[in-house]
Amino acid sequence: MRLIDIGANFTNRKFSNDLPQTIKRACEANVEQMVITGTSLKGSKRAADIASEYPQKLFSTAGVHPHDAKDCDDNTITVLEKLAQKEQVVAIGECGLDYNRDFSPRPVQQKWFIAQIELACKLQLPLFLHERDAHDDFIDILSDYKKNLPKAVVHCFTGTEKELDRYLQMDYYIGITGWISDERRGKHLWKIVKKIPENRLMVETDSPFLLPRNIKSRPKSGRNEPAFLPFVVKSLARSLQKSEEEVAAITTSTAKEFFSI
Ligand SMILES: [Zn+2]
Repeated sequence: MRLIDIGANFTNRKFSNDLPQTIKRACEANVEQMVITGTSLKGSKRAADIASEYPQKLFSTAGVHPHDAKDCDDNTITVLEKLAQKEQVVAIGECGLDYNRDFSPRPVQQKWFIAQIELACKLQLPLFLHERDAHDDFIDILSDYKKNLPKAVVHCFTGTEKELDRYLQMDYYIGITGWISDERRGKHLWKIVKKIPENRLMVETDSPFLLPRNIKSRPKSGRNEPAFLPFVVKSLARSLQKSEEEVAAITTSTAKEFFSI
Protein backbone atom coordinates (compact mmCIF):
# COMPACT_ATOMS: atom_id res chain seq x y z
CA MET A 1 0.00 0.00 0.00
CA ARG A 2 1.31 3.43 -0.99
CA LEU A 3 -0.48 6.63 -0.07
CA ILE A 4 -0.27 10.31 -0.91
CA ASP A 5 -1.45 12.95 1.57
CA ILE A 6 -2.56 15.86 -0.60
CA GLY A 7 -3.06 18.24 2.34
CA ALA A 8 -0.57 18.55 5.20
CA ASN A 9 -0.22 21.89 6.98
CA PHE A 10 3.43 21.46 7.93
CA THR A 11 3.88 25.21 8.36
CA ASN A 12 1.55 25.08 11.36
CA ARG A 13 3.44 25.72 14.60
CA LYS A 14 2.27 22.36 15.96
CA PHE A 15 4.89 20.79 13.66
CA SER A 16 7.72 23.16 14.50
CA ASN A 17 9.46 20.84 16.96
CA ASP A 18 9.41 17.44 15.29
CA LEU A 19 8.93 17.74 11.55
CA PRO A 20 11.69 15.24 10.55
CA GLN A 21 10.22 12.64 12.92
CA THR A 22 6.71 13.38 11.63
CA ILE A 23 7.87 12.76 8.06
CA LYS A 24 9.62 9.57 9.11
CA ARG A 25 6.46 8.27 10.80
CA ALA A 26 4.49 9.09 7.65
CA CYS A 27 6.88 7.02 5.53
CA GLU A 28 6.64 4.13 7.99
CA ALA A 29 2.85 4.30 7.59
CA ASN A 30 3.25 4.02 3.78
CA VAL A 31 2.51 7.68 3.17
CA GLU A 32 5.18 8.10 0.55
CA GLN A 33 4.44 11.57 -0.74
CA MET A 34 2.87 14.63 0.85
CA VAL A 35 1.75 18.00 -0.47
CA ILE A 36 2.26 20.82 2.02
CA THR A 37 -0.54 23.36 1.94
CA GLY A 38 0.45 27.01 1.51
CA THR A 39 -2.13 29.26 3.13
CA SER A 40 -0.42 32.67 3.20
CA LEU A 41 2.46 34.36 1.44
CA LYS A 42 4.82 33.64 4.30
CA GLY A 43 3.44 30.14 4.75
CA SER A 44 3.73 29.35 1.04
CA LYS A 45 7.39 30.39 1.05
CA ARG A 46 8.02 28.25 4.11
CA ALA A 47 6.12 25.32 2.57
CA ALA A 48 8.31 25.51 -0.55
CA ASP A 49 11.45 25.66 1.64
CA ILE A 50 10.43 22.57 3.60
CA ALA A 51 9.53 20.68 0.43
CA SER A 52 12.90 21.51 -1.13
CA GLU A 53 14.59 19.54 1.65
CA TYR A 54 12.75 16.34 0.68
CA PRO A 55 12.81 16.18 -3.13
CA GLN A 56 10.19 13.93 -4.74
CA LYS A 57 8.77 13.16 -1.28
CA LEU A 58 7.39 16.55 -0.28
CA PHE A 59 5.73 19.08 -2.55
CA SER A 60 3.90 22.31 -1.80
CA THR A 61 1.19 24.66 -2.95
CA ALA A 62 1.44 28.44 -3.23
CA GLY A 63 -1.60 30.46 -2.29
CA VAL A 64 -3.54 32.55 0.18
CA HIS A 65 -6.41 31.06 2.20
CA PRO A 66 -9.64 33.10 2.31
CA HIS A 67 -8.99 33.67 6.05
CA ASP A 68 -5.82 35.56 5.09
CA ALA A 69 -7.22 37.37 2.04
CA LYS A 70 -7.35 40.57 4.09
CA ASP A 71 -3.53 40.60 4.16
CA CYS A 72 -3.12 40.50 0.36
CA ASP A 73 -1.74 43.51 -1.49
CA ASP A 74 -0.45 44.56 -4.92
CA ASN A 75 2.58 42.34 -4.50
CA THR A 76 0.82 39.12 -3.58
CA ILE A 77 0.21 37.62 -7.00
CA THR A 78 3.72 38.50 -8.23
CA VAL A 79 5.26 36.68 -5.28
CA LEU A 80 2.99 33.65 -5.74
CA GLU A 81 3.85 33.53 -9.42
CA LYS A 82 7.56 33.53 -8.62
CA LEU A 83 7.10 30.77 -6.04
CA ALA A 84 5.13 28.73 -8.55
CA GLN A 85 8.19 28.51 -10.80
CA LYS A 86 9.90 26.26 -8.27
CA GLU A 87 9.93 22.60 -9.13
CA GLN A 88 8.44 21.45 -5.82
CA VAL A 89 5.46 23.84 -6.07
CA VAL A 90 2.73 21.81 -7.75
CA ALA A 91 -0.47 23.84 -7.35
CA ILE A 92 -1.96 27.28 -6.74
CA GLY A 93 -3.88 27.51 -3.45
CA GLU A 94 -5.15 26.95 -0.94
CA CYS A 95 -7.61 29.55 -2.12
CA GLY A 96 -11.35 29.95 -2.19
CA LEU A 97 -14.18 31.25 -0.02
CA ASP A 98 -15.00 30.66 3.65
CA TYR A 99 -18.30 32.19 4.78
CA ASN A 100 -18.32 29.97 7.86
CA ARG A 101 -15.72 31.96 9.72
CA ASP A 102 -15.68 35.17 7.66
CA PHE A 103 -12.18 36.03 8.90
CA SER A 104 -11.81 38.30 5.86
CA PRO A 105 -14.69 40.40 4.46
CA ARG A 106 -16.50 38.53 1.68
CA PRO A 107 -15.73 41.01 -1.13
CA VAL A 108 -12.04 40.80 -0.18
CA GLN A 109 -12.16 36.98 -0.20
CA GLN A 110 -13.77 37.09 -3.65
CA LYS A 111 -11.24 39.54 -5.06
CA TRP A 112 -8.23 37.44 -4.08
CA PHE A 113 -9.89 34.17 -5.00
CA ILE A 114 -10.40 35.53 -8.52
CA ALA A 115 -6.81 36.77 -8.69
CA GLN A 116 -5.50 33.31 -7.78
CA ILE A 117 -7.80 31.56 -10.27
CA GLU A 118 -6.44 33.88 -12.96
CA LEU A 119 -2.89 33.04 -11.92
CA ALA A 120 -3.60 29.30 -12.13
CA CYS A 121 -5.15 29.80 -15.57
CA LYS A 122 -2.13 31.78 -16.73
CA LEU A 123 0.38 29.21 -15.44
CA GLN A 124 -1.90 26.22 -16.15
CA LEU A 125 -1.12 24.85 -12.69
CA PRO A 126 -3.69 22.81 -10.73
CA LEU A 127 -5.87 24.66 -8.21
CA PHE A 128 -6.18 23.60 -4.56
CA LEU A 129 -9.58 24.91 -3.48
CA HIS A 130 -11.23 25.61 -0.13
CA GLU A 131 -14.96 26.21 0.19
CA ARG A 132 -17.04 26.43 3.32
CA ASP A 133 -20.64 27.64 3.44
CA ALA A 134 -20.03 29.55 0.22
CA HIS A 135 -21.02 27.04 -2.46
CA ASP A 136 -23.12 29.28 -4.73
CA ASP A 137 -20.69 32.21 -4.92
CA PHE A 138 -17.82 29.75 -5.30
CA ILE A 139 -19.42 28.07 -8.32
CA ASP A 140 -20.45 31.45 -9.79
CA ILE A 141 -16.90 32.74 -9.68
CA LEU A 142 -15.29 29.55 -11.02
CA SER A 143 -17.86 29.25 -13.82
CA ASP A 144 -16.50 32.44 -15.39
CA TYR A 145 -13.19 30.66 -15.98
CA LYS A 146 -14.55 27.35 -17.22
CA LYS A 147 -12.83 27.53 -20.59
CA ASN A 148 -9.33 28.12 -19.35
CA LEU A 149 -9.45 26.54 -15.90
CA PRO A 150 -6.77 23.94 -15.15
CA LYS A 151 -7.49 20.86 -13.03
CA ALA A 152 -8.99 21.75 -9.65
CA VAL A 153 -9.49 19.89 -6.38
CA VAL A 154 -12.08 20.83 -3.77
CA HIS A 155 -10.07 19.89 -0.71
CA CYS A 156 -11.64 18.63 2.53
CA PHE A 157 -15.05 18.11 0.97
CA THR A 158 -17.75 18.03 3.69
CA GLY A 159 -20.73 19.32 1.71
CA THR A 160 -24.09 17.96 0.61
CA GLU A 161 -24.93 15.51 -2.16
CA LYS A 162 -26.20 18.37 -4.33
CA GLU A 163 -22.96 20.27 -3.90
CA LEU A 164 -20.94 17.16 -4.72
CA ASP A 165 -22.98 16.59 -7.88
CA ARG A 166 -22.25 20.15 -8.96
CA TYR A 167 -18.52 19.76 -8.38
CA LEU A 168 -18.42 16.52 -10.32
CA GLN A 169 -20.39 18.13 -13.13
CA MET A 170 -17.69 20.80 -13.26
CA ASP A 171 -15.16 17.96 -13.46
CA TYR A 172 -13.42 18.86 -10.20
CA TYR A 173 -11.42 16.43 -8.09
CA ILE A 174 -12.48 15.79 -4.51
CA GLY A 175 -10.27 15.54 -1.40
CA ILE A 176 -11.58 13.44 1.49
CA THR A 177 -10.27 13.95 5.05
CA GLY A 178 -10.85 12.36 8.46
CA TRP A 179 -14.23 14.09 8.46
CA ILE A 180 -15.46 10.80 6.95
CA SER A 181 -14.23 8.93 10.04
CA ASP A 182 -16.53 10.99 12.25
CA GLU A 183 -19.66 8.97 12.94
CA ARG A 184 -21.62 12.13 13.79
CA ARG A 185 -20.58 14.97 11.46
CA GLY A 186 -19.35 12.77 8.63
CA LYS A 187 -22.18 10.31 8.35
CA HIS A 188 -23.75 11.95 5.30
CA LEU A 189 -20.49 11.49 3.39
CA TRP A 190 -20.69 7.70 3.63
CA LYS A 191 -23.53 7.48 1.16
CA ILE A 192 -22.40 10.09 -1.33
CA VAL A 193 -18.66 9.34 -1.74
CA LYS A 194 -19.70 6.42 -3.97
CA LYS A 195 -20.60 9.00 -6.60
CA ILE A 196 -17.02 10.20 -6.96
CA PRO A 197 -15.34 8.55 -9.97
CA GLU A 198 -12.08 6.76 -9.16
CA ASN A 199 -10.06 9.19 -11.23
CA ARG A 200 -11.42 12.15 -9.23
CA LEU A 201 -10.88 10.85 -5.68
CA MET A 202 -7.96 11.75 -3.38
CA VAL A 203 -7.24 11.57 0.35
CA GLU A 204 -5.69 14.01 2.80
CA THR A 205 -5.21 14.52 6.53
CA ASP A 206 -5.47 18.35 6.62
CA SER A 207 -3.16 17.81 9.60
CA PRO A 208 -2.67 19.05 12.30
CA PHE A 209 -6.45 19.44 12.12
CA LEU A 210 -9.18 16.79 11.85
CA LEU A 211 -7.69 13.89 13.80
CA PRO A 212 -9.64 10.83 12.54
CA ARG A 213 -12.04 9.61 15.21
CA ASN A 214 -11.45 5.94 14.34
CA ILE A 215 -7.91 6.00 15.78
CA LYS A 216 -7.98 3.69 18.76
CA SER A 217 -5.02 5.05 20.68
CA ARG A 218 -5.51 8.73 20.05
CA PRO A 219 -2.51 10.98 20.73
CA LYS A 220 -2.94 13.08 23.87
CA SER A 221 -2.03 16.21 21.96
CA GLY A 222 -5.01 15.71 19.64
CA ARG A 223 -2.67 16.57 16.78
CA ASN A 224 -3.31 14.92 13.43
CA GLU A 225 -0.37 14.01 11.15
CA PRO A 226 0.16 12.28 7.79
CA ALA A 227 0.96 8.94 9.50
CA PHE A 228 -2.76 8.77 10.35
CA LEU A 229 -3.86 8.90 6.70
CA PRO A 230 -4.51 5.12 6.70
CA PHE A 231 -7.41 5.77 9.11
CA VAL A 232 -9.06 8.02 6.52
CA VAL A 233 -8.50 5.30 3.92
CA LYS A 234 -10.05 2.75 6.27
CA SER A 235 -13.29 4.73 6.63
CA LEU A 236 -13.38 5.54 2.93
CA ALA A 237 -12.86 1.88 2.03
CA ARG A 238 -15.75 0.86 4.28
CA SER A 239 -18.09 3.42 2.78
CA LEU A 240 -17.08 2.50 -0.78
CA GLN A 241 -17.21 -1.23 0.00
CA LYS A 242 -13.73 -1.65 -1.42
CA SER A 243 -10.55 -2.95 0.16
CA GLU A 244 -8.12 -0.49 1.72
CA GLU A 245 -5.51 -1.57 -0.83
CA GLU A 246 -7.88 -0.72 -3.65
CA VAL A 247 -8.66 2.70 -2.22
CA ALA A 248 -4.95 3.33 -1.73
CA ALA A 249 -4.21 2.40 -5.33
CA ILE A 250 -7.04 4.55 -6.72
CA THR A 251 -6.30 7.66 -4.68
CA THR A 252 -2.53 7.44 -5.17
CA SER A 253 -2.78 7.16 -8.92
CA THR A 254 -5.28 10.03 -9.03
CA ALA A 255 -2.99 12.24 -6.92
CA LYS A 256 0.02 11.39 -9.07
CA GLU A 257 -1.88 12.36 -12.17
CA PHE A 258 -3.41 15.50 -10.63
CA PHE A 259 -0.18 17.00 -9.30
CA SER A 260 2.13 15.38 -11.92
CA ILE A 261 4.27 13.90 -9.14
ZN1 LIG B 1 -9.15 24.28 3.72
